[in-house]
Amino acid sequence: MGIRLKILLVFGLCFGLMAGATLWLLRQSVNASYQTIERRELVAHMGRVLQGLESVLAGLSSQTRDWAEWTDLYDYASNPRAHGAWAQANLLPQSLESANLSLILLLDAKGAVLAQVAPPGAALNMVSATEGGAIPMGRFKSQGRTPRCGLVATTLDLMAVCWARITRSDFSGAQVGTVVMGRLLTTDRQDKLRAQTGLPFEMRSALAAPEGLLHWPDVLEANDVGGRGFWTAHDSQQYHLYYSLLDAFGKDLGWITLSLPRDVYAQGQHLFAQVRGQLVLILLGTALVLALALDGLLLGRLRRFSAQLVRVRQGAAWDARIDVRGRDELGLLAGEVNTMMGLIESQMAGLTTLSMTDTLTGLPNRRAFDERLRLEFARQQRTECALALLVLDVDYFKGYNDRYGHPAGDAALQAVAQVLRQACARASDLAARTGGEEFSVLLPETDAQGAQDIARHIQLLLQAQALTHENSAVAEVVTLSIGIAIAREESAQAFVQRADRALYQAKQQGRNRVCADDLPKPSGVE
Ligand code: GH3
Ligand code: MG
Ligand code: MG
Repeated sequence: MGIRLKILLVFGLCFGLMAGATLWLLRQSVNASYQTIERRELVAHMGRVLQGLESVLAGLSSQTRDWAEWTDLYDYASNPRAHGAWAQANLLPQSLESANLSLILLLDAKGAVLAQVAPPGAALNMVSATEGGAIPMGRFKSQGRTPRCGLVATTLDLMAVCWARITRSDFSGAQVGTVVMGRLLTTDRQDKLRAQTGLPFEMRSALAAPEGLLHWPDVLEANDVGGRGFWTAHDSQQYHLYYSLLDAFGKDLGWITLSLPRDVYAQGQHLFAQVRGQLVLILLGTALVLALALDGLLLGRLRRFSAQLVRVRQGAAWDARIDVRGRDELGLLAGEVNTMMGLIESQMAGLTTLSMTDTLTGLPNRRAFDERLRLEFARQQRTECALALLVLDVDYFKGYNDRYGHPAGDAALQAVAQVLRQACARASDLAARTGGEEFSVLLPETDAQGAQDIARHIQLLLQAQALTHENSAVAEVVTLSIGIAIAREESAQAFVQRADRALYQAKQQGRNRVCADDLPKPSGVE
């Protein structure tokens, strides 16, 4: 796995964790806020529904008060037999219809029914939700002049009821009874309330609702509104509120339910989906920028670095330098590598010099000579310019060693080397120690005559050194035999062999002389 992939993976992991944690925390807190907002909204809506109910009760209350403070009614309640005509004129089903009522009930001072007007099959079957029997009418017995109001359950619907003590309009006289007025909250009336409030609530009497009609979710959250308990439940689509109703006497009566679509929540979910998508886009964009930055700042430079190192290694080009540009860590690393390559370069140069130099005389050695010979010979073959080779051998050197000792022999060899250096003045000339007491001189751009001149010059210079050699049979001083060959169209090996042959001839002919392989007449030095 490459560095780029590793870094991108680590980045993706970190970014994903960060974004995931942030989204999760945000979601938790925002969802909680949404629920609070939704619940508050539902409670406010329920308040409006209750206000609607209260306005129904308020209207009924004022109607009840009108009747309660009606002297004719007082007279009838005081003596029903004497005022039967009033009852016949006013306690009629039509009276209910014109007053928009469902029940008119008159009770005497003890709570017994004096008269009642109700639609068939409704109020007469009125029962309490809790006691399972008829509501004892005595419960409506009222002491106060101000009407009391509330809801009661009937077998048909919920009914709004108000009741008040019957008095004369001037409030004089003893208590004679109670007037009770009721208004059924029929579907029509509920529709009106729904239209008024603009809320799709449902209102159910505990008695009238068929079994299982209202589904109460298993898990409800207990809440509180207006001092009364209510419950909420929600799924992803809707938020439900259940408000339990008590009847006029504080018993369970039924409930109001209100369900609203979770618009705010849905918007929030949509927002989250958008943010999630945007985060993914940001992640991809950032990863792309990171990949490009990685490439520009690090990986591309590392690749160039590595390619340059491979070239250096393959070509042993220790004099090359790594170029990665920039003064950052990679630049510093390249600087260190360059310093090391400089060290290697200088050490290699030292080793090369060592491997090419003869330690005794300081002249180039056999290897250096062979290499140079190869180059010069190839050039000569190409250009056909002149190239001369001199092979030189110290005469009777074994005898010299024997007579003067090995260290003196070494010194003599060093003197010969010095002579050769002197004689080979041109930069292109090469004098090398190619054997124990054998030397070679390569002379580019030098013809046979020039080679002979130089050979003689060498001999003269050595003679001038006057290295006494008592064991020499040819002279009193150290002398050299020299073989010469001039390059022609042949192999390098043949070229060298001809020079060796010329040297052999010089030895054969008595030593201390110069012989040329191709020269018609070898010449010696006296
Ligand atoms: P010739 O005239 O035929 O060349 O006789 P020569 O004695 O020079 O020839 P030979 O090859 O028999 O002897 C070469 C000698 O050179 C033998 C060896 O001891 C000596 N020699 C070779 N290398 C060195 C060296 O580095 N130092 C010294 N002091 N002597 C060396
Ligand atoms: Mg020899
Ligand atoms: Mg010799």
